[in-house]
Amino acid sequence: MFDSGRILRDQGKQVTRRLFLIGGVSFTAYLTMSRLSKSRVEASETVHGTPGKVTIVNFSDDGRNLGKETVPKILKSDQEWLQQLGKNSFQIARQADTEMPYTGVSWREHGHGIYRCICCGTAIFSSQTKFESGTGWPSFWQPIAKENVAEKQDMSLGMARTEVKCVRCEAHLGHVFEDGPKPTGLRYCMNSASMKFVKA
Ligand SMILES: [Zn+2]
Repeated sequence: MFDSGRILRDQGKQVTRRLFLIGGVSFTAYLTMSRLSKSRVEASETVHGTPGKVTIVNFSDDGRNLGKETVPKILKSDQEWLQQLGKNSFQIARQADTEMPYTGVSWREHGHGIYRCICCGTAIFSSQTKFESGTGWPSFWQPIAKENVAEKQDMSLGMARTEVKCVRCEAHLGHVFEDGPKPTGLRYCMNSASMKFVKA
């Protein structure tokens, strides 16, 4: 008889093993950092965030500084964000989940351009500060403009980390660690799903 259950189980083991082989430390880190994928996405009409205005720095797609602008913050309900982003980016950018390493679209993107917030389009990083961290997540040594990101202490999962958010829409982008390369020594460990790469 065809034992589909066993084949699925075996495939599952192979996939798990392959991920461990590919991901190494990163995959283990992912398991501890992620809340793991939720089977059901809950999106209510609740609007999160604090209304008000923020001053951001605008950039063209080829990375030219277009100057500062004071703009209203972008607040939407969970339902609106889910509809705009789809399940994966919604869970990561709006619910602070972490994507599996080596799975995002931009961890090995080497093109010249900028990375914008997937939710509101604010410029977040330039390809000029991207580096190979070996973690499987897109990594940068500084944001494109300090005005465009907000950093917040994150004590979730029993760890002291610094969360990095989009200043305009409060999207969760990732975390920043102090083990990056020169000149800043910082490692902005981002989720591909929270950003949109725009080629110059
Ligand atoms: Zn944003």
